[in-house]
Amino acid sequence: MIPATFAYHRARSLDDALAKMAAAGAGGRFLAGGHSLVPLMKLRLSEPGTLIDISRVAELSGIREKDGRIEIGAATVHHAVATSPVLNDRCPAVAEAARTIGDAQVRNRGTIGGGLAEADPCGDYGAVILALNAQLKCLSPRGERMIPAAEFFSFAYTTALARDEILTEVIIPALAKHSAGVYLKLERVAGDFAIASAAVQLSLDDGGSCAEVGIGVTGGHAVPTKGVAVEDLLRRKKITPELVAAAGQLIQADAEPIEDMRGAAQYKKKVLGAILRRAIAEAMRRAEAKPSS
Ligand code: FAD
Repeated sequence: MIPATFAYHRARSLDDALAKMAAAGAGGRFLAGGHSLVPLMKLRLSEPGTLIDISRVAELSGIREKDGRIEIGAATVHHAVATSPVLNDRCPAVAEAARTIGDAQVRNRGTIGGGLAEADPCGDYGAVILALNAQLKCLSPRGERMIPAAEFFSFAYTTALARDEILTEVIIPALAKHSAGVYLKLERVAGDFAIASAAVQLSLDDGGSCAEVGIGVTGGHAVPTKGVAVEDLLRRKKITPELVAAAGQLIQADAEPIEDMRGAAQYKKKVLGAILRRAIAEAMRRAEAKPSS
């Protein structure tokens, strides 16, 4: 299919992108890797009048560690996220999520910011930013603001971003030294969107109990969700096999999955419980393997 006619402008900087969006008015849309937006345009499900290409805005790219927190520029491509030494070392759940996305072409063009702004119910980064309590830095003509991950997704394909607002950075707060994380995903075939996925980030205290924990899942609802009840269940307890089983049951009981080509609701509930149990067990294994200081 051929998209409807549109104008194309490449932004040279963040200020230039905002100015071009203001000039474009209601028909303006930011373009990053184009791996979600262009297919929608070809199907005429999206018909922006003007595309403002932000993929080469230098301020939007790169992964930096500052005072223990990690800042990921929104236009950083999935491949750079997947292979980042700092992410693989300090925060592997993010890199693991990026590695499961699509194929090599998608990972070399698609961006973390585009993936989050698209808010596909089965997208991979949602669970991870919720487990890590990430902050999303955004910029618009009205100024800069931070959106906590838990407030970012409003509904399927809908976020808290205003039309003229750019997501500039994903900020992962400093993690405890012994904190360990994991991202696990069940997919129909390699490179597909998730049927269900779970991200778990946890740290243990000196006695081996769970000191802090973050849980994010996809597949349970129309949006990725933070497993607040599961976090409360695990916090300050010894994580026994019985507790892990109870966590799986809790996430299943809360789930109201969308029925689609990836499975019936009952099936998705079951695999969501199973993938969360496995993710908690793996995060525990990684936390226990960390050298004590
Ligand atoms: P674009 O397509 O350019 O933009 C998407 C939307 O986000 C647009 O509305 C755009 O205006 C907006 N946007 C982009 N960047 C910003 C920003 N910085 N601020 C504000 N708004 C912005 N994703 C997964 O998570 N898991 C998968 O397994 C997966 N498999 C895929 C398989 C294929 C074959 C394809 C084509 C895509 C797949 N994707 C998957 C989607 C992929 O991750 C896309 O890269 C991503 O969803 C969109 O990122 P993009 O940079 O291409 O954004």
